[in-house]
Amino acid sequence: MAVRSSRRSRRAVIVGGSMSGLFTAAFLRRIGWEVDVFERSGVELVGRGAGITTHPELLAALEQCGAGTRDLGIEVEKRIAIDRQGRVIGERPLRQILTSWDRLQRLLRETIDPAHYHLGRTFERLEQDGQAVRVHFAEGGIEHADLLVGADGIRSGVRARVAPEVQPIYSGYYIWRGAPNEADLSRDTLESIFPYFVFFLPERQQVIGYPISGLDNDLRPAHRRYNFIWYQVGDAQQLQRMCVDENGHQHDHSVPPPLIRRDLIAQMRADAEQIMPPAFFDCLRHIAQPFFTPIYDFSAPRIVLGRVALVGDAASSSRPHMGFGVAKAGGDAQALALALAAHDDIDAALAAYEAERQPIGERIMLHGRKLGTHLGVGLKTDEDRKMWKRLQDFEAMMDWIAVPNFLAACR
Ligand SMILES: Cc1cc2nc3c(=O)[nH]c(=O)nc-3n(C[C@H](O)[C@H](O)[C@H](O)COP(=O)(O)OP(=O)(O)OC[C@H]3O[C@@H](n4cnc5c(N)ncnc54)[C@H](O)[C@@H]3O)c2cc1C
Repeated sequence: MAVRSSRRSRRAVIVGGSMSGLFTAAFLRRIGWEVDVFERSGVELVGRGAGITTHPELLAALEQCGAGTRDLGIEVEKRIAIDRQGRVIGERPLRQILTSWDRLQRLLRETIDPAHYHLGRTFERLEQDGQAVRVHFAEGGIEHADLLVGADGIRSGVRARVAPEVQPIYSGYYIWRGAPNEADLSRDTLESIFPYFVFFLPERQQVIGYPISGLDNDLRPAHRRYNFIWYQVGDAQQLQRMCVDENGHQHDHSVPPPLIRRDLIAQMRADAEQIMPPAFFDCLRHIAQPFFTPIYDFSAPRIVLGRVALVGDAASSSRPHMGFGVAKAGGDAQALALALAAHDDIDAALAAYEAERQPIGERIMLHGRKLGTHLGVGLKTDEDRKMWKRLQDFEAMMDWIAVPNFLAACR
C-alpha cells in the first residue's frame, strides 16, 4: 500500500463531528495542523441529548480552544433533595452552570471553517503504514492524513477497525428523559423545583432535574426548559424487549425517540404516577416525546493504535453520574494537541497522549461505576456494598453526583 505522507503541513482527518471531533479540530488548528472533520449525519447536528452539567475543566477547554463560554447556560445556586410529597429534605449551596448539548455544539462549530466540516461522510475503513493513514468513506472518496482521530462516539467504527475486541458494557440500568418547556409547567413546579438542581431518590431509582435554556439557546424566563432524568433498573432481557419499536422492529442498543412503543411510554407514565412527587410528575406530563437511553460504559486499554488516536467517548465512556463526558472530550482533545505541539515526532507525541489520557479515562469510568452502586445493580465487592450503603443517604448523593473537581478528589 502506498500511503502519501506530507511532513510540511501536517494533516489530521477527524471522524465524528460532535463534541470530541469539534474540540479536536479546534485545538489542532491552533497548533497549525490542517484538519478536516467528517460527520456521518447528512444534516447539522442539533437537538441531541438535552442538558449538560458543566465543570471547570469544560469551561477551561472551551476558552482555550477558542470557542468561549458566552451565553453558556443557566446558573443554579443550590441543590435540593425532595421527598414523595415534594417537601425539601436536604439542601446544598453549589453554584453550577447547566448548559445544553445544542449550545456547546454551536459554540464549537463556529470555530471550524465550514469548508473543513463535511456532513454526510461515513467512515468505513482505514489503511496505515506507520507513517500515514488512508481513510475510506462509505459514500466513496479516500482521504490521506498523518493522523486519523476517532471521535465517533461510544460505538466508534474507527475503534471497531483497530480494536474490535473493545465493547461497551451494559450497566443494568437505563434512563427515561426529556425536557419540558418552562411555560407549560405549573406555578408550583416553577417555584418548588425549576430554579434548582433537584434530587428525588426512591429505592433503586433516581430522578434528577435542572433548568436549561430553551430552543435556540433561549435563556429568557418562561422560554427555558427543565432537564428531566429518571434512572431505573432493567436487565439485558428487559432492555432487549424495550428495544422493539412501534413497528415491531428489534433495535440493537436504543430506539429513535419517535419509534419508541406507545405502550412502553404509557406504562412508564403509569409507574411515575405511583412514585413521583407532584412537581416531577408535572414535568413528565409535559414531555411530549420521552425517550430512554440505556447506560453503558467501557475504557479502551489502548487509545493510540499506530497513527490512529481515539478521543472522547470513542476512547472511553463513563456512566453519566458525573456529567463529565464533554469535559473529558475537551481534555482529550487538548492533551492530544499539546503532545503534538511538544514533540516533533508524531509517534512520540501519540505515546505521550496515550500515557496521559488513557489512565484518566479509566479512572473516570471506575468512578462512574462507584456512583452507580446507588442503584444496587451488580454489587460484587465489599467496597461496592459499602459505597451502595453510603449512597442510600440523599446527603451523600448531593455531595457526589455531578460535582466539580471529583477527579482531584478521587485520585
Ligand atoms: C444520558 C446521558 C447524560 C449525559 N450527561 C452529560 C452531562 O451532563 N455532561 C457531560 O459533559 N456529558 C454528559 N454525557 C456524556 C456526553 O454526552 C458524551 O460524553 C459526549 O457526547 C461524547 O462526545 P463525542 O463527540 O465523543 O461522541 P458523540 O457525541 O457520540 O459523537 C460521535 C459523532 O460521531 C459520528 N459518527 C459515528 N460514526 C461515524 C462514522 N462511521 N463516520 C462519521 N461519523 C460518525 C456520530 O454521528 C456523532 O455525531 C451524557 C451522556 C448520556 C448518555
